[in-house]
Amino acid sequence: MSDETGASKQTQSGPVVHLCEHPGCSKWGGFGFAVGRAAPNWFCSEHRPEWKKANA
Ligand SMILES: [Zn+2]
Repeated sequence: MSDETGASKQTQSGPVVHLCEHPGCSKWGGFGFAVGRAAPNWFCSEHRPEWKKANA
């Protein structure tokens, strides 16, 4: 797995700031996408992957 260089892995007290994980993008990652049981990945509205009902 890749290293987590963002600051989104802080203590889970209160709202956690998720930034878009797209390289070079520092926008607000308001869209979380979790594949299976993996930790969700966060992307902004521009870089969010197409949401396929994978975990319905
Ligand atoms: Zn982005």
